[in-house]
Amino acid sequence: MKIVILSSNRELYSTRRLLEAAIAQEHQVEVLDPANCYAGIETGSCTLFHGGQPIEQVDAVIPRIGASMTFYGAAIVRQFEMMDVFTTVKSQALVRARDKLRTLQLLAKSGIGMPKTAFAYKPLDVDDLIKKIGGPPLIIKLIEGTQGIGVVLAETKTAARSVIDAFHGLQAKIIAQEFIKECAGKDVRAFVVNGKVIAAMKRQGVGDEFRSNIHRGGSASEIKLTKEEERAAVRATKKLGLSIAGVDLLQSSRGPLVIEVNASPGLEGIETATNVDVAGSIISFIEQKVALAKADRDTVGA
Ligand code: ADP
Repeated sequence: MKIVILSSNRELYSTRRLLEAAIAQEHQVEVLDPANCYAGIETGSCTLFHGGQPIEQVDAVIPRIGASMTFYGAAIVRQFEMMDVFTTVKSQALVRARDKLRTLQLLAKSGIGMPKTAFAYKPLDVDDLIKKIGGPPLIIKLIEGTQGIGVVLAETKTAARSVIDAFHGLQAKIIAQEFIKECAGKDVRAFVVNGKVIAAMKRQGVGDEFRSNIHRGGSASEIKLTKEEERAAVRATKKLGLSIAGVDLLQSSRGPLVIEVNASPGLEGIETATNVDVAGSIISFIEQKVALAKADRDTVGA
């Protein structure tokens, strides 16, 4: 197969591991920076270029699109879709998963456990919004934040009001969320590939940090999930239209609560904590999907 990894930097751990795994499984693979790809669109034809050369005869694309590139990156992924190239994450699912509010709305509708969440447009509705999620302490999050940046714990109503006012003043879109006290500083990342949890780790924040993100200094260790936790992770992935995802769960006293579904989950933390060859599993998944699509085309053509 010919595989393209869309990534801004081939030295990043996840990109490097995917590259190694594809080569180990004897595929042709190249890393292209989505910022250097450009697209041509005209009646009956969608084309892609990189450095003046057309990107042709690709079997699969693995998007590793950074948060700051979501719009342009998703458009490049969509162009691959128009060219009938298999992608490990559909452009629409990528955009959907980058929006925490949209993610939670979809998960709520399908009955998946989550912390109570609220959002409001007008600052005047803030007091009522705080009441709706059970009062302080509460969490305030940027809708498009990552790596724990823009996630704030407000201990009192006054603190919550000031944080919400400040975010509104900066025109930042936010959600307010019930603080799950028993999970302070701890969460679980389940790595889902093709309808199965293939690896899971428990993350623990440093000291009294309530955020467990490894980027914030948290540590990680392997964990065996309960059936209920596995089910929640797999259902959340499916509900967002993803085949590969990093699902973040809180192990609350009322069961697993999903807080985020990551469409471009990093491999370093999970592979280091669990020793699972996640990159290899992703390449095997692509092999399966591309072979199935080829078999379908051959049947139609027969
Ligand atoms: P990001 O996408 O920026 O990592 P998250 O929503 O995953 O943001 O939150 C970052 C961390 O904050 C989580 O890993 C978890 O440890 C903690 N956290 C988030 N939401 C809650 C919550 N409702 N209750 C308790 N802890 C939370």
